[in-house]
Amino acid sequence: MLIPERLVRQNGAASSVPSVSVVAPIYNEVESLPHLIEAIASTLTSAGLTYEIICVDDGSTDGSVELLKQLAQNRSDLKAVLLRRNYGQTPAMAAGFNYARGGAIVTLDADLQNDPVDIPRLLAKLDEGYDLVSGWRKNRQDAAVTRLLPSKIANWLIARVTGVDLHDYGCSLKAYRTELVADMNLYGELHRFLPALAYIEGAKIAEMPVLHHARQYGRSKYGLGRTFRVVMDLLTIWFMKKFLTRPMHVFGWFGLISIVSGTLLGGYLTFLKLGLGQSIGHRPLLILAVVLLLAGVQLFSFGLLAELLMRTYHESQGRPIYRVREVVEPKQ
Ligand code: UDP
Ligand code: MG
Repeated sequence: MLIPERLVRQNGAASSVPSVSVVAPIYNEVESLPHLIEAIASTLTSAGLTYEIICVDDGSTDGSVELLKQLAQNRSDLKAVLLRRNYGQTPAMAAGFNYARGGAIVTLDADLQNDPVDIPRLLAKLDEGYDLVSGWRKNRQDAAVTRLLPSKIANWLIARVTGVDLHDYGCSLKAYRTELVADMNLYGELHRFLPALAYIEGAKIAEMPVLHHARQYGRSKYGLGRTFRVVMDLLTIWFMKKFLTRPMHVFGWFGLISIVSGTLLGGYLTFLKLGLGQSIGHRPLLILAVVLLLAGVQLFSFGLLAELLMRTYHESQGRPIYRVREVVEPKQ
């Protein structure tokens, strides 16, 4: 495989910053863990890449925590971030992003459904000048009715709403430029919308078919309930895309049109009354003029309020969506 120049440069002993950070969220995956870490390590080592593995434990209760601690204390390439309780996949990934130091970040599931063998290919694609390379589980190994069908519908909807044309938003195996995720705020089930959020920020996005295997150990953490949460998040994204940055551009515009037409009608009626001495009290036009004026003022002030809210929203984002209990540093 051709190793991209940027990665080779960082591969030198002088640099302690790894070229890639591999982030895996872990919730009760004790049997998969050793295989996962070995697979990542051997793939990246033979590709000649410097790397760190960041495993974020999302409140596991099956012994994953103890195993992770033990592994991190004995390996130089593994950092374990242990969350205090189960927060969900998105916060776990956000925690991983926060601890990643590499020039690129790759995320994948810990259950071995994604194959680490694909990582060097994703990185090579990233180095062609993309900010985000998303995996596409072309041959997906999940249940047809409960998983594949809702996912097909969701992917179609998301593509329509966000304007980013990907086949598979739900695939966790993705590669990002670190700068891209540095200032993204994640919550809910938003990790699957990262391409859409990145696209709103002007990122260049590519998609690439990746391997997918059936789950070998443990059980899936999700059922149909996720579909509902995904739809709600989709609505949020749609709103953010349309109005988030400048609500005044929408509300202010309608407000202004309404105020101006109300004023013109009112002026015309005033002229009829004062200039020509006509009676205007019985005219529906008067009601229209009053409604337009009032509605216009309302819309305008609503726009201003929305602007204030959005400013507060943006500026109050410093709050983390997770709390870390402990960070186990790799062996020196
Ligand atoms: N996961 C997590 N927290 C959760 C649920 C899941 O960190 O609350 C992790 C899980 O351990 C796995 C990944 O997210 O590494 C994807 O979960 P899963 O395989 O259950 O999802 P599926 O592949 O069935 O969509
Ligand atoms: Mg899975």
